[in-house]
Amino acid sequence: MKSPLIVLASVVVCSIAIPILTSVVSYDSIEATPREDKKTVVVTKQITKQIVKKAEKKLTSYETINKKSPTINVYNHKLGKTQKMDIEEYLCGVLAGEMSSEFNLEALKAQAVAARTFVMYKENQGDSSKHKNAVVCTDFKHCQEYKSYDQLKSKNGKNWMKNSYSKIQQAVKETKGHIITYNDDPILTLYFSTSSGKTENCEEVFSKSYPYLKSVESPYDKNYSPKYVSALQISNKDFVDKFKKSYGGVQVNENDLKNEIKILERSNGGSVDKFKIGNKEIKGTDVRRILNLNSANFDIKFNENYLDIVVKGYGHGVGMSQWGAEGMAKEGYKYYEILAHYYKGTQIKDLY
Ligand SMILES: [Zn+2]
Repeated sequence: MKSPLIVLASVVVCSIAIPILTSVVSYDSIEATPREDKKTVVVTKQITKQIVKKAEKKLTSYETINKKSPTINVYNHKLGKTQKMDIEEYLCGVLAGEMSSEFNLEALKAQAVAARTFVMYKENQGDSSKHKNAVVCTDFKHCQEYKSYDQLKSKNGKNWMKNSYSKIQQAVKETKGHIITYNDDPILTLYFSTSSGKTENCEEVFSKSYPYLKSVESPYDKNYSPKYVSALQISNKDFVDKFKKSYGGVQVNENDLKNEIKILERSNGGSVDKFKIGNKEIKGTDVRRILNLNSANFDIKFNENYLDIVVKGYGHGVGMSQWGAEGMAKEGYKYYEILAHYYKGTQIKDLY
């Protein structure tokens, strides 16, 4: 029989050693472990704080440069012409188009840095075939959304310009020249509206891998985003018809969908990766496109004549979640802490 002293000693040792071990455990190993929501928030906060310490160091270690901001060529796809503008002025128009001015200032600053980095990334990539003499265009499907000062003023009015546009200008001004780099190069700053609780590995969505576009926990979307859950109710017939339109050869019995449809595989971030309908196997992103779902993270409930499809998150899921960023900002995190969380292993660099 163990002596009570030994038992007591081991209890003491464990109670000291376990918290120490937990605090040094690596980010990757934490991420791989599924856990409850409440714990996720606590653990993610600890993790983010560890990243934050690194980010803070990086932020104070860069050389602050105070040069004039560069002028860039922007292809206005609506006017069909290229316009020269100051990059910081362009960024105010991007920010106004890509994020609500109601967002927390730190989330807006994170978005401003992401948008600025996107321009520098594009510049590094060289000419785009869609707009040969311009580094970016105003089409959000190809580059980033952009709203000019005049457009915003006529749409939103003087008061909005005074109160909200000034906040957007502040976010751009306070991050002037800041971009996100990996190995000293500007990164591809993908971003989207709302995560399902985790972001996605880029390679699982766009089939190209980037070391800084990896799946990370995003626990705040659930509490802050109005787009966290959406639902689609669709009749068995309409469901099958939609797939038949895209895949002519698909054979499926619409009276037995419970056995004809199957989610085969999910990604690391929880989205449907492989999906089976009848004799056809397709990607979850194609299911999203065909049914026009908010994201590829969905579950299906089978009813007699119809299906209930419940969708989590909004957007492709890769990179920074805007509502996740908003949640982090509301919890007190700074823009560089938000960026360090969503773009793994990156640094902030001051260009001008
Ligand atoms: Zn473009």
